[in-house]
Amino acid sequence: MLRIEKNVNLIAFNTLSFHSIAANFLSITSEEQLAPALDYCAQQQIGYQVLSGGSNLLMAEEIPGLTLHIQIKGISKLKESDSKLTLRVSAGENWHQLVEYSVNNNWQGIENLALIPGLVGASPVQNIGAYGTELKDVLLKVYAYDTQMKRFREFDNKQCEFAYRDSVFKRAKGRYIITYIDIELSKKTNIEAKYQVLKDYFAAKSIKKISLKDVFEGICLIRSSKLPDPKVTPNAGSFFKNPIITTKHFQELKTKYPNIVGYKVSDRSTKVAAGWLIEHCGWKGYRSKAVGVYPKQALVLINTGGATIDQILNLAKKISHSIDSEFNISLEIEPQLFPNIS
Ligand SMILES: Cc1cc2nc3c(=O)[nH]c(=O)nc-3n(C[C@H](O)[C@H](O)[C@H](O)COP(=O)(O)OP(=O)(O)OC[C@H]3O[C@@H](n4cnc5c(N)ncnc54)[C@H](O)[C@@H]3O)c2cc1C
Repeated sequence: MLRIEKNVNLIAFNTLSFHSIAANFLSITSEEQLAPALDYCAQQQIGYQVLSGGSNLLMAEEIPGLTLHIQIKGISKLKESDSKLTLRVSAGENWHQLVEYSVNNNWQGIENLALIPGLVGASPVQNIGAYGTELKDVLLKVYAYDTQMKRFREFDNKQCEFAYRDSVFKRAKGRYIITYIDIELSKKTNIEAKYQVLKDYFAAKSIKKISLKDVFEGICLIRSSKLPDPKVTPNAGSFFKNPIITTKHFQELKTKYPNIVGYKVSDRSTKVAAGWLIEHCGWKGYRSKAVGVYPKQALVLINTGGATIDQILNLAKKISHSIDSEFNISLEIEPQLFPNIS
């Protein structure tokens, strides 16, 4: 028996705090519920969409069809040796709590991904990343329900087709519902701060022998000083992906704008800091109606109270237009439309 709730307000289920009504809402607490839930959609001739922590979504005011809220819990150790271990983590576990649990056990690999909001099941969708680490660096397998073939299947790291904020799951737009993932963590004890901001943080604190806990605390402090807490200032994290342009184009821009920030991706391509482009065009701190650009980080768009998806998309459009005119660079929005109608 499926316990489907009607007309559920999702304001507490999305970090932008958009007022959004789901026509039908079902909490999925075990993978056995998926097939009957999708059969129900077929019988009723309605669509479905998958919701986890709602931290990377732009919710419409009305959400038709069935919203599946993934709440499958559980963490288990699959394999362990002296140097490493494999964890199986269910989709409904909280990502940051998983990082904290790993750090508390001295397991290395995901500490740089501390404080990323959301649930484990969404982490492969955009191959979450921060401070030089991406999920793909530790991921062994993803298990998902294939809604087209109506069966569960597993993906190894290569089959996930991970790229910068991208994967086969994101491109398949809801075809696969992730139920759990396997990750490999290391028990190595020598810790290095690979990212410059972290190196600066440890130098400022005169920390020479770095522990995993130091990295975790450093990341949490750095992130909290730059990014708004969605509970206080509703937001969806980075609103735009960092654009990747040809190195030739980047060098031309560098001549005109010596301070432009970019990172080499390959000999031919460079990833440009979208936050720098937006700040350079004067958007930092901008406000219009109920939306704005976060004053401490131009990459984050915020809901200042009662904003709608149309208002935030309008602001994003204006920002993109000005970046295109100034730098001849197209920006791509990072959060996903919900429901995904594109
Ligand atoms: C303050 C803030 C900071 C952030 N910082 C970062 C960062 O540093 N790096 C980064 O990469 N991201 C960052 N994000 C974005 C976001 O937290 C991540 O993308 C996160 O993985 C989204 O998880 P979620 O559970 O909230 O997913 P949701 O927002 O609920 O869903 C995101 C997408 O994944 C799909 N999805 C969700 N669960 C499943 C599932 N089980 N199976 C299949 N599809 C699914 C949804 O349909 C949707 O398309 C940040 C967001 C905020 C608000």
